[in-house]
Amino acid sequence: MTADSRKFRSVPVLVPTPAEGPYTYRVPEGMDPVPGSVVRVPLGPREVAGLVWEGPGGAVDPSKLRPLSEVFDCPPVTAGMRRFIDWVAGWTLSPPGMVARMVLRVPAAFDPEMPAEGLRITDTRPERLTPARRRVIELAGDGLAWTRSGLAHAAGVSLSVVDGLRDQGVFEAVEIPPRPVVPEPDPSHAPAELTDEQSDAATALTRKVAAGGYSVTLLDGITGSGKTEVYFEAVAETLRKGRQVLILLPEIALTQAFLDRFHDRFGARPAEWHSDLAPRTREQVWRQVADGRVRVVAGARSALFLPFAELGLIVVDEEHDAAYKQEDRVFYNARDMAVVRGHLGGFPVVLASATPSVESRVNADQGRYERMVLSSRYGGAALPELRAIDMRSDPPERGGFLSPVLVEAMKQTLVRGEQSLLFLNRRGYAPLTLCRVCGHRFRCPDCSSWLVEHRFRGQLMCHHCGHHEPKPQACPECGTLDHLVACGPGVERIAEETAAFFPEARIIVLSSDLLGGVKRLRLELEAIAGGEADIIIGTQLVAKGHNFPGMTLVGVIDADIGLANGDPRAAERTFQLLSQVTGRAGRTGRRSAGLIQTYQPDHPVMKAIISGDPENFYQREIAERERAQLPPFGRLAGIIVSAPTAGEAQTHARGLRAAAPAAANIAVLGPAEAPLALVRGRHRWRLLIHGDRRADLQGFIRAMLAAGPKPRGQIRVQVDIDPQSFL
Ligand code: ADP
Ligand code: ZN
Repeated sequence: MTADSRKFRSVPVLVPTPAEGPYTYRVPEGMDPVPGSVVRVPLGPREVAGLVWEGPGGAVDPSKLRPLSEVFDCPPVTAGMRRFIDWVAGWTLSPPGMVARMVLRVPAAFDPEMPAEGLRITDTRPERLTPARRRVIELAGDGLAWTRSGLAHAAGVSLSVVDGLRDQGVFEAVEIPPRPVVPEPDPSHAPAELTDEQSDAATALTRKVAAGGYSVTLLDGITGSGKTEVYFEAVAETLRKGRQVLILLPEIALTQAFLDRFHDRFGARPAEWHSDLAPRTREQVWRQVADGRVRVVAGARSALFLPFAELGLIVVDEEHDAAYKQEDRVFYNARDMAVVRGHLGGFPVVLASATPSVESRVNADQGRYERMVLSSRYGGAALPELRAIDMRSDPPERGGFLSPVLVEAMKQTLVRGEQSLLFLNRRGYAPLTLCRVCGHRFRCPDCSSWLVEHRFRGQLMCHHCGHHEPKPQACPECGTLDHLVACGPGVERIAEETAAFFPEARIIVLSSDLLGGVKRLRLELEAIAGGEADIIIGTQLVAKGHNFPGMTLVGVIDADIGLANGDPRAAERTFQLLSQVTGRAGRTGRRSAGLIQTYQPDHPVMKAIISGDPENFYQREIAERERAQLPPFGRLAGIIVSAPTAGEAQTHARGLRAAAPAAANIAVLGPAEAPLALVRGRHRWRLLIHGDRRADLQGFIRAMLAAGPKPRGQIRVQVDIDPQSFL
């Protein structure tokens, strides 16, 4: 050992850069970082947050190292979480620093929460006692600490009254410790009375929690069977054991009703975590998850990267949902990563769904997961009767999209005073606008996609990049006035047609681009649940998990949309979406129906869906996947190369392909121009890597990237393990 290395201590730190591993920093005198410590470090000209990593610092001359600027006074990230970061980085082929960045995205949360300034009454009394002063003194007579504004507000006086008393020494300043964002949930607050079937599943789940250790349970229950009530019992048991719980939900819009239900069961709400939180709340939740004061978090996929102090259970609700896949920087599937997190942390994971992903179903069939089935709806409600409407024999009126069969069913539903839901997975008014005179089509200047007309907004919009322009009166190509025509339907257009059929009906259109955002959406959902609408027209947003008690008819406008493209998951997606959306009907026991408009009623997927027996679908789809060696019987990864010009993207993609190592069980398909060839002005080419079940895709791709051309300038290469999208 040299004198230098004894004098200097150094530590590895993960910083938010694309580097392969941590950087080494010198530890200044008086600082004592441990693995997991959150630190501030210089990086180039900036200062960034980093995570102290394990192992010795690199073998760099310590005198050349830059020092840590600060070790934050917050709990170190646990060893379980650090292994998780490494694992996610290795699996997704992302730099570990970029994964750590997902954990450290709330810089203001690293400092301890400041206590609030409070006032407490002393023995001094004012010289003159006005009625206002008397009210303040009476209130504060409880001897507790009050905030200045809280006291003024409670006493119904102005702040100056309180200030005056403080200046006279009637109050002394004290510190009020920061409040928890949510009160502690009580596992025994109000347990539901479970049915026999629910109770069996709940008991089995709580046993797993009580026993501890890693396990994955697939809670496979039809819509309305009470999966939530069942997994709440696992949540309760975890809380009793003194561990924290994470519940992942696919959609913020769903959260509101969920929070209320949780409150009913546990007497307090869970902390929320999603992109719509106020910055201050975000900081508090992060901090209080880290120090263990928050016991339960309900959140979107990014909640997986919160620094839980003692996580003991993850529930992934609607586990099949594509919203769990992040396709930005680090491409990961939160459902799969939740299982990994449970494995590394040694605790149970529950995956809940009425339409499990084929992957999870196969994992259960093969014994890696335990499958628990809830086969009946709560309260004796029956599933809707499903029927196909053959659009070839029962076509809509000219220019319309609703078959007379569906219109008649809606009429009867309306007469009975019940609700109908029309489902079409297309936002806006029409997916394509063209000029009847010259045939000009409106397309996005930066993407290879048509502009979608949004009539409420009076705009033509690109759904890929957000580009929008007012809809013109005249064709920009030939100049002809008033000859632009909308092609195909979106939900707004279906609403227009519906209103023409039923002018008296109260109609609500629901889609994610609703003006007024999440708040408005919540209000609309409440209104629907409260029976304030007769007909609801919505995109996939309405398919997810909502409880609409008065709904007895679901009509699917275009069931064939999803089946048209060559996506290997098209059949599964269509099955899940249609089952979920028709599952909104008949939740309270009234007779209900799901009518599915299709031009291919004999398509095997359509037949399996309409049969009402999900096993028809799963057995067929599982056999199909096995035959084609598609996931989970084989492995897929996408590589997307994008560049400012098509030529650069193509050349780079070809270079990668040429650099692929030889492997008997892995094939490289492409490169080919991506179906979505242009997005935000960037040209895209794709490679698809297909391996058998045991293939080391990550190793293969790593070797390929190492041997291939390096992305220079504006060229970008993104690896997508287990792609959900093939566009
Ligand atoms: P799922 O998530 O399986 O679709 P939910 O958990 O949302 O089903 O339950 C459907 C409805 O039935 C909810 O309104 C729920 O409150 C109610 N419910 C289910 N089980 C019970 C129970 N044991 N006691 C009271 N209400 C229940
Ligand atoms: Zn665009």
